[in-house]
Amino acid sequence: MSNLIRFFGTSAAAPSLKRGFACIGLVEEEKHRSSREENIVLLDCGDGSIRKIMETKTSCLSISDILITHFHSDHLSGLAQVIESMDIQKRTRELNVFGPKGLEEYFAQIQRTTCIASKRKFIINVSELDTGTKGVKVSDHKVSTFEMQHTISCLGYRIENSDFVLAYTGDTEPCVEVLNLSEGADLLIHEATFLQKDIDKARSSKHSTPLEAAGDAEKSGTRNLVLTHINDNYETEEGIVSECKTIYPMVRVARDGLEIPL
Ligand SMILES: [Zn+2]
Ligand SMILES: [Zn+2]
Repeated sequence: MSNLIRFFGTSAAAPSLKRGFACIGLVEEEKHRSSREENIVLLDCGDGSIRKIMETKTSCLSISDILITHFHSDHLSGLAQVIESMDIQKRTRELNVFGPKGLEEYFAQIQRTTCIASKRKFIINVSELDTGTKGVKVSDHKVSTFEMQHTISCLGYRIENSDFVLAYTGDTEPCVEVLNLSEGADLLIHEATFLQKDIDKARSSKHSTPLEAAGDAEKSGTRNLVLTHINDNYETEEGIVSECKTIYPMVRVARDGLEIPL
């Protein structure tokens, strides 16, 4: 068994031709002699995620669980499309969807008004998580939640198993809970929406800069940092890295299709 991160969508809320909206796979991969079997825990599911998943030749049927950080459309509005595709492909095994308070009502409303996958043969378990939840079993991992600081309620997820600790912020401005979320993590996936020159925009929209993300990684003893939620209409990957690598060298910028072993 090996684990890797597969970035399906790495865009901020501003549209981009190169980047899809937020969608990241934690892939547990089992190699057999003639085939490769995967199980995937999805982190966020922004609009169009199903096409980004297909572009990497990933089967949506291999997704066992979906963790939603918050209800902004660039993190959530692809959920119904992924579920429709699972139904069309005749899924039978259960799907677990986790997210902040309000997820059950959101899903029930979507179900009522759009009749998504109304004849599906699989059960969808929708679970709301409080901030400060510890050790919920998700696939083979233990998941804990942390309260990020954003314009609406946002859960940061810390995912642990015997091999690794992964931390994912979703959208947030710098806060002490990011440090708790990522303390000693093997990998921190941190949003980096604005550059330092636009720090005022980062504060007013409650987002972070690469320099702030790198500072969090350094303070929390994180081993590796990947920046995502990128506005590439605005800056190059080199520009983003150059802003922060002096204080945290183990940094890279996510792009759609990137895979990183854990
Ligand atoms: Zn966002
Ligand atoms: Zn947001």
